[in-house]
Amino acid sequence: MKTVAVIGAGASGMMAALTAAEDRENRVLLFERQQRAGRKLMATGNGRCNLSNTELSPSNYHGADPSFASFALEAFPPAEALAFFGSLGLLTVREPSGRVYPLSDQANSVVDTLRFACLCAGVELLAAWPVRTIRREGERFRLQTEEQSFLADAVIIACGGLAGGKLGGVSDGYDLLKSLGHSRTALLPALVQLTTDPDYPRALKGVRADARLNIFSEGRPVAASRGELQFTEKGLSGPVTFEISRAVSCLCGRPAAARIDFLPDYPEAEVLEKLLAKCASFGALPCEELFTGMVHNRLGKMLLKYCGLLSQRTLSELSEAELRAAAAAAKDFRLKVRGTEGFDSAQVTAGGIRTSEFDPHTLASRLVPGLFACGEVLDIDGDCGGYNLQWAWASGRLAGRLGR
Ligand SMILES: Cc1cc2nc3c(=O)[nH]c(=O)nc-3n(C[C@H](O)[C@H](O)[C@H](O)COP(=O)(O)OP(=O)(O)OC[C@H]3O[C@@H](n4cnc5c(N)ncnc54)[C@H](O)[C@@H]3O)c2cc1C
Repeated sequence: MKTVAVIGAGASGMMAALTAAEDRENRVLLFERQQRAGRKLMATGNGRCNLSNTELSPSNYHGADPSFASFALEAFPPAEALAFFGSLGLLTVREPSGRVYPLSDQANSVVDTLRFACLCAGVELLAAWPVRTIRREGERFRLQTEEQSFLADAVIIACGGLAGGKLGGVSDGYDLLKSLGHSRTALLPALVQLTTDPDYPRALKGVRADARLNIFSEGRPVAASRGELQFTEKGLSGPVTFEISRAVSCLCGRPAAARIDFLPDYPEAEVLEKLLAKCASFGALPCEELFTGMVHNRLGKMLLKYCGLLSQRTLSELSEAELRAAAAAAKDFRLKVRGTEGFDSAQVTAGGIRTSEFDPHTLASRLVPGLFACGEVLDIDGDCGGYNLQWAWASGRLAGRLGR
């Protein structure tokens, strides 16, 4: 009998443990630092768990060498992952965007399905047992926890990354792998809110808009995306912000500006035409109603404040030059970007253990025989929309095969 130690009972670790347990010759120990398995998983997708995305392509993944992920993702694509979960009793639904959720709309359905499957497969879950050190002992590994040490023939590191600190994001995986000779790239928060000059966002807190968000640094475009934008106390959030946040993190503090188009389907000339028509037809209305019916009311007033037009005047008193400025504000609203909210608020870590040190076909270490890694601890991160969990399932499945 071979003892397999999986470190971390999160998404990739539970998948790896289940897979390793399919070989009856394996005794599988699943170590978890926290009181419960899958704590971060419980919080995914706002408690709904966006567990996969059927519209997956290699361009959804990032890292020093994103192609590293391809073998695992092709070997266990979304359709197979969903069939696998289906075989464990989990019902799922696919949204038109390709995002997949449990039919129950509850992340705990995913966690419980995995946890019970692990138990039924004979995986020994050791919750609240953080692994502190791992040393080579001959051909085996000596794992040290707070109270006890264990010997294992194979070790799978599935400790996740730094993102979501309050949900258990820690540096343990990087530290354990570094102690065994591995190295990592720089770690940056991704899929995270942006912090900007707070004045306008604070006044718009909670307001959502379908917008195009462009990030510029030193005069050059850095990233752009279209989708739902949300204002927060300190800056910008919402799916469109998450999508460009990785690029902002990678600027590492270099100056950046967010330029927001609140009417992305209307060219500026058409916006101006509409404003002129509004003033001609409703000249007696107060100036603050200029954008009424076009954008969220609070946002409309904010745009007027931004271009210095909020006043006691009526619409008929606004000049064409002033309306041009208003149209420009709606199409190119600028905010100074200060940075991101950091790891505690991030959904994923960009960067990680160097993938060049692992075999993409097995996820075995090229440096230490019997050592494997999967999930976020490796230098692979996905876009918003279920891609990170799909990587966790695919890489966990591959690592759990232990090179078979
Ligand atoms: C708020 C939030 C929402 C998200 N929503 C989504 C979503 O909807 N869809 C999506 O695809 N992705 C989402 N993600 C990202 C996704 O959750 C992660 O990418 C994924 O969980 C990574 O899986 P993992 O197994 O690598 O790490 P994790 O799931 O984080 O699991 C790692 C586990 O290892 C344990 N551990 C760490 N160190 C030790 C140690 N020394 N000993 C024992 N155990 C240890 C940790 O406690 C943890 O349980 C979200 C992330 C966050 C923070």
